[in-house]
Amino acid sequence: MSNHSVSYALNSMVLKIIEGYNDNEISENYVRKLVTKALATSYEHDGNDHEVLEGVSNSFCGKCLKMKKGDFFKIVDYCCSNGVSLVRVANSFLDSEPFKDLKDIAEKFNFSKEDIKLLEREFNESCTNALCTDCLKEEFDKITGSRDKTNEVMEYFYEE
Ligand SMILES: [Zn+2]
Repeated sequence: MSNHSVSYALNSMVLKIIEGYNDNEISENYVRKLVTKALATSYEHDGNDHEVLEGVSNSFCGKCLKMKKGDFFKIVDYCCSNGVSLVRVANSFLDSEPFKDLKDIAEKFNFSKEDIKLLEREFNESCTNALCTDCLKEEFDKITGSRDKTNEVMEYFYEE
C-alpha cells in the first residue's frame, strides 16, 4: 500500500525548495540534489512520485529549472520483463495519456540504439521527471539534426 503522508510531506518541502530557488536563495545544483533526494526518500518509504511533485511537474522543468506555462512532458521510467530500462514520454496535460513510448518514437523516426541511450541519459538529468517543450525539442534536435524534423516528432505526441 502506498504511503501518501510521506509523499505529501515531501511535496510541501519540494514546493519550498523551488520557492527558495526562485528567490535566489539556493543554487541550481542544490535544487537538483534536494528534489532528487525527496523523490528517493519517497521511494524508500513507499510514496508516490506524482504526489511528491504535485503542483511542480506540470509547471517546473527539471532540466532548465524554469517555471513555464504550456505543455509539459513527463518521463516515466519502467522496466521491461527482460530488465532493460526504457523511458516513456507522456504529455502531462493530457493526464499522462496517451503515453508515447520512446521505443515507438525511435522506430517511427529511425532513431538508433545509441540515440535512445543518449535521450535516456539526457532525460535522467531532469530532477522532476518532467521536461518543458523547449527542453524536449532541444533533446530531439540532437538526434534529428533539424528543428523541422523535431517538430514532426512533437506532432506525434498529439496523435491518438
Ligand atoms: Zn526546460
